[in-house]
Amino acid sequence: MPIEFRCGGCGKLLRTADDSAGKQAKCPDCGTVQMVPLPQPAPPPFEMASVPSPSTGDNPFATPQTLPPMPPQTGSGLATASLVLGCCSLLGWCCPIIGLAISITGLVMGISGLKTSGRSMAIAGIVLNSVGLVLSLVNAAMGAVLAVMNQAH
Ligand SMILES: [Zn+2]
Repeated sequence: MPIEFRCGGCGKLLRTADDSAGKQAKCPDCGTVQMVPLPQPAPPPFEMASVPSPSTGDNPFATPQTLPPMPPQTGSGLATASLVLGCCSLLGWCCPIIGLAISITGLVMGISGLKTSGRSMAIAGIVLNSVGLVLSLVNAAMGAVLAVMNQAH
């Protein structure tokens, strides 16, 4: 009775003679060399899979390895950008649309930068951008009021 087994390389069902059991065989399809299994009375595949491997315990690759923490360069970059944008928004608040865009962007960047090593810079950026945002809003409100007043005349 010939032995049937699956190729470990390509999954093709291979067939070989009885006397090849326990010997090395080469897959004619993909060339993977593997051991011909001993003839067994058709074992269910899930039982084969559940057989515990004795080497699993001391295999260092079996344990999940924690990744080293990412260098916080991107984060402190965010904090720096927030700080720079904060300064810009303090200067640029008199241009309503630009000042508003700068301070909102800086605020978002500062909040993102809070979780990083650039925390103090991020806080400074948030403060500056908040001030810039308030100034921009006041400026925009005043502009709206002035426009309404001009229309009334
Ligand atoms: Zn194969």
